[in-house]
Amino acid sequence: MTKRLLIRTWGCQMNVYDSERMAEVLAPLGFGPTEAPEEADMVILNTCHIREKAAEKLFSELGRLRLVKEERRQAGRDMVLAVAGCVAQAEGAEIAARAPYVDIVMGPQTIHRLPEMVARASRAGGLVLDTDFPEESKFDHLPEARTQQGVTAFLTVQEGCDKFCSFCVVPYTRGAETSRPAAAVLAEARRLVEAGAREITLLGQNVNAYHGEGVGGLSGLVRALAEIPGLARIRYTTSHPRDMGDDLIAAHRDIPQLMPMLHLPVQSGSDRVLQAMNRGHTADEYRRLVDRLREARPDLALTSDFIVGHPGETDADHEATMQLVRDIGFAGAFSFKYSARPGTPASRAPLQVAEAVKDARLAELQALLAEQQRGFNAARVGQEFDVLVTGPGRHPGQIAGRSPWLQAVHAEGPQGLEGSIIRMQAVSATANSLTCVLKDSAKPLPEQHAA
Ligand code: SF4
Repeated sequence: MTKRLLIRTWGCQMNVYDSERMAEVLAPLGFGPTEAPEEADMVILNTCHIREKAAEKLFSELGRLRLVKEERRQAGRDMVLAVAGCVAQAEGAEIAARAPYVDIVMGPQTIHRLPEMVARASRAGGLVLDTDFPEESKFDHLPEARTQQGVTAFLTVQEGCDKFCSFCVVPYTRGAETSRPAAAVLAEARRLVEAGAREITLLGQNVNAYHGEGVGGLSGLVRALAEIPGLARIRYTTSHPRDMGDDLIAAHRDIPQLMPMLHLPVQSGSDRVLQAMNRGHTADEYRRLVDRLREARPDLALTSDFIVGHPGETDADHEATMQLVRDIGFAGAFSFKYSARPGTPASRAPLQVAEAVKDARLAELQALLAEQQRGFNAARVGQEFDVLVTGPGRHPGQIAGRSPWLQAVHAEGPQGLEGSIIRMQAVSATANSLTCVLKDSAKPLPEQHAA
């Protein structure tokens, strides 16, 4: 490695996955990682449009990097500055106009072309702008080698979204729904397992809309993945209630490797707001769906996303959300105040809710969600379950791991068990983690269901 690469990543796990792929496509060009901008021959800012004031934050970060780039140039060393991700996709022209020192602006669908863009930027100078939605999938062009570290891994299987929720930029920045063929996903999963992964989380903006060639829907993909020897745990995120079909619900009943935890955003408990959001389901349809899921897998824990203060939301609508949360009981949730994203229908809607009202509603909702999360963790105390050991704990003699419900686990135990699954009992709980004791010795390749 002769050159240094710094990638800063904001946003969801799909951006984290894309950043890892960018590092991989640049490795053959001699780029190795650094955390220091002054050392970096190339800096990539992989952006997220969901963040509030995302563009403004990007421009202040670019302002800081401009100074570093200038200092390096005076010292006779260049720096290629690239902006990737959803802000790049949505605001490419604005970036070109306001930050002409940026060398590359690229959307999420063109990361496989990065080496060519770097070559063009170094050769010709001037901005290389690539925010296409190309015909060919980036996945067909990304290298096979995966820099797998640790026993848990992410694997993108689906991108884009056709749902056009009123508040969301994803359909505009990530494009239409596309799914990777099952053969490609399975091959990547096998490589991850060979490199040490025991738990794989399948990623997609609308992952349960997966319709990849070879297996049909996501349930078929999960069933095929469950046949891979050594792959002990499977998760998937993020799902839409509309795409939660009977086959996928049955997979939760039938496949022990599919972990009993589902992130299923509902956004609001008010039918009026759900309709204004263009979510395509009612609050009661969501309740019935949860009933069916819990019938199929009684220990299933649910997490969700909420937006409070969508344009037009009244006190009664907010109370309907609170009631839905009381009815379902969530193990965790992400909740945000609505904030307008340029270009989305909700940003042009009348009846925007006052900030102070949004603040009060969010505080009330978050207090209830936090109480439910603490209650969910506290209810594990005394229970026995399998823990995937992920590495050493923070203190000497401690090991760290993950419960089936994605809680962080700490326990006293022997080192070197990374990747093992051990029966443990929870003895205490905090808002975010469990302290456990070992009940069983390690099983190096447990929960293995080879074909
Ligand atoms: S389903 Fe999800 S990704 Fe698609 S538009 Fe709605 S919020 Fe955005």
